[in-house]
Amino acid sequence: MTGSRPRVPDAGVIPAAHLSPAEFVENGRAVLDWLARYWSHIEDYPVLSGVRPGEIRARLPAAAPETGESFDEVMRDLDRIVVPGLTHWQSPNFFAFFPSNSSGPSVLGELLAAGLGVQGMLWATSPACTELETHVLDWLVDLMGLPADFRSDGPGGGVIQDTASSATLTALLAARERATGFESNRVGVRAPLVAYGSEESHSSLLKAVRIAGLGGDNLRSIPADPVTRAARPEAFAALVREDLAAGRIPCFAAVTLGTTSTGAFDPLEEMGGIARQHGVWVHVDAAMSGTAFLCPEFRHLQAGLEFADSYCFNPHKWMFTNFDCDAFWVRDRRALIETLSVTPEYLRNRASEAGEVLDYRDWHIPLGRRFRALKLWLVLRHYGAAGLRDLIREHVALGQEFREWVEAADDFEVLTPAPLNHVTFRYRRPGAAPDDLNRRLLDALNESGRLYLTHTRVPAGVALRMVVAQTHTTRVHVRQAWDLIARTARGLS
Ligand SMILES: *Cc1c(COP(=O)(O)O)cnc(C)c1O
Repeated sequence: MTGSRPRVPDAGVIPAAHLSPAEFVENGRAVLDWLARYWSHIEDYPVLSGVRPGEIRARLPAAAPETGESFDEVMRDLDRIVVPGLTHWQSPNFFAFFPSNSSGPSVLGELLAAGLGVQGMLWATSPACTELETHVLDWLVDLMGLPADFRSDGPGGGVIQDTASSATLTALLAARERATGFESNRVGVRAPLVAYGSEESHSSLLKAVRIAGLGGDNLRSIPADPVTRAARPEAFAALVREDLAAGRIPCFAAVTLGTTSTGAFDPLEEMGGIARQHGVWVHVDAAMSGTAFLCPEFRHLQAGLEFADSYCFNPHKWMFTNFDCDAFWVRDRRALIETLSVTPEYLRNRASEAGEVLDYRDWHIPLGRRFRALKLWLVLRHYGAAGLRDLIREHVALGQEFREWVEAADDFEVLTPAPLNHVTFRYRRPGAAPDDLNRRLLDALNESGRLYLTHTRVPAGVALRMVVAQTHTTRVHVRQAWDLIARTARGLS
């Protein structure tokens, strides 16, 4: 092979059933045009789909097509059948849950990964797939102010996982083995292991504890501060003491930086210090808010990283990289690899055996893996670190402005600290039950189709969450959202 680009093969060498190169290009252009139009007109759609359960399936044929259909027909059905059933996560008026951001460079990176179709389970199965991933995750260590130990040229390293849920499970498995001298891997979990997480921890923590065989009852829920919703370190210390006194083995603590419910930040430094004293693995879950740490001025919220054994965040939430893409690092990769490595004969190869390469199949649960680093690489190269920081700062500034508007309104209140772009708030009216009032407000807002918000519960009751982080959200959208929220609330019967 010479030249830097593959040559387009003659149509004649491709069986007729496949798309010819020319047809592929033509259909591909149609898809890109379609997406570009969709993104530019996305505000024309109600943010939430209004379909009823089963409505989409009822429009689909009962059986798969026996003979191939034309691409145009498929695209027509995309408009006719699929689009009405979409909730528009790429709408700038999407303020619910957390964003699942896409962006031009990310989609193009995803397309390249799909077309290359490489399987990066081992270094040897596609060296660039592994090395680009290792390299981009090393870049991120530096860009986010993470400890140098997390870099792959030190004892640690990073890997892309599908989700934060998988990252947390992977960390827990390594912690379990570290705590038991790799015994659980052989004989099952016999040691009385316990794990810890704030009462505000993500549900994926309990799921991980169950899957890892610790048993859900052995997840200790650390009470959170009634106002800040951050885990209380003295409560964590008390639980650890209690478990030790009862002969149990504290093994894993999840510290959340930016909780799903209210955007609370657990005190990593204090919790880390307690965990370190007892050899407890500290896993930092910064799935949503990790992206903020591209900006040095927000890094005080992750003080205490020297105690972290592992760390994850989701570029697929706020960092303009489409789902799925969770970045996961460990301080010491040996425990992880020893926990997950199983090598049958058919995977043996010289590079792995020489110990010169990373084989990412040993860093997560599946064997196979796709080339997700490409989209991350395209995002980092398109925006540049400075470009990303500007966008993140803009979202945080808008979140703060929204918080100020809520604070300035006599009939609204902000319920938790909200240092970044996640504001937890509610409407209040003398003589009205606040939970009922806010549930009705939420329904009215979402039924309007003009934005999408979700709720949570804090000690004071039902709260609305406003998360300003969608790729295309600007000040106009946030201002419109606030005007609509205030007007709708005041108009409630
Ligand atoms: C979103 C989120 C998760 C779950 O993320 P997945 O990638 O969907 O598994 C876990 N923890 C926190 C703090 C989150 O924000």
